[in-house]
Amino acid sequence: MSDHYQILGVDRDASFDEIKKSYRRLAREYHPDVNPDPETQEKFKQITAAYEVLSDPDKRQTYDLGGDPYSSQFGGGNFGFGDIMDAFFGGGQSRGPRARMRAGQDALIRVEVDLSEACFGTTRELNVETAIACEKCQGSGCANGTSPKTCEICRGRGEVQQVTRSFIGQVMTSRPCANCQGYGSVIADPCGECAGDGRVRSRRSITVKIPAGVETGNRIQMSGQGEVGPGGGPAGDLYVEIVEKPHELFIRDGYNLHLSVSIPMTTAVLGGKFSATTLDGENEVVIKAGFQSGHTVVLKELGITKLRGHGRGDLIVHVDVQIPNKLNKEQEELMRQLAKLRSETSDSVEIHRVGEKNHEASFFGRFRDAFSR
Ligand SMILES: [Zn+2]
Ligand SMILES: [Zn+2]
Repeated sequence: MSDHYQILGVDRDASFDEIKKSYRRLAREYHPDVNPDPETQEKFKQITAAYEVLSDPDKRQTYDLGGDPYSSQFGGGNFGFGDIMDAFFGGGQSRGPRARMRAGQDALIRVEVDLSEACFGTTRELNVETAIACEKCQGSGCANGTSPKTCEICRGRGEVQQVTRSFIGQVMTSRPCANCQGYGSVIADPCGECAGDGRVRSRRSITVKIPAGVETGNRIQMSGQGEVGPGGGPAGDLYVEIVEKPHELFIRDGYNLHLSVSIPMTTAVLGGKFSATTLDGENEVVIKAGFQSGHTVVLKELGITKLRGHGRGDLIVHVDVQIPNKLNKEQEELMRQLAKLRSETSDSVEIHRVGEKNHEASFFGRFRDAFSR
């Protein structure tokens, strides 16, 4: 059996609040309703099962002592939605009957975009599965035209009093009525379509507009596109979270893009131009005569579109100079002549402090700083 504490990522002496907090975070992350792949569903079941046990002091104690309260209490792995809702909406110390109609949960779905889509924006068709209000009963959960009847056990209060004896005398406690699960009313004739829940699962396709300039972690909120609540309660929101796929050539740094090229030594010395791939197609890069290895050429406004604001970042081309490592006789001779004409020997060395040459301090310096932080 898997360990409930491990599943919820809490210590064995975690407080109820810690357990609840961790559960809420995980439940949002793994909620299978919009992302119904079997692995997510399985994970969500485990999380919920762990929470069912650890959130209840009695069950937790049994579990800590090596028992398995889950198997005896919950038999078929049928998860009480009410408990999940309690975790989200902080129920537990209820006064009076629970409302059948409650707000639905938010839902999260992740969408992968490539760099070009992140730069220019795109629209996506998403296939989501959420709870929607049951059409047959309009969310009431009752079969044709009937309505819930007042519970005979608690007379509509949703809770029952219990008197227990303790060393300080008689103690009156109230607990949710088992007959009506605390609703105060009983659906005698449940709707055949939704079995009384007031909602059914439905798969649908929605169109999401992804704006230009997004990056990993950005969330697009789609109001009312999440889960409809029990009893036909108002739907939560759907959040579409962006995951940007890495590009094979460009590295993104905010709104700027970085590209590396290496040019022949002769081009660096004499100048020249070449064509570089950008998100906007091929673009000419001009190398001025006397170009220094490690310097950059900035292609203005060819980076990522700014999400809120105007314009775009730049495409920064990092240029290395290829030093030939094999020369034939004739080339070597020419090199020697050149060296002689320029009076260059191996003594013609400039010594400077690390990072003092401007190109070293720029791009790589910033990345180095980011990593050493
Ligand atoms: Zn129904
Ligand atoms: Zn009752």
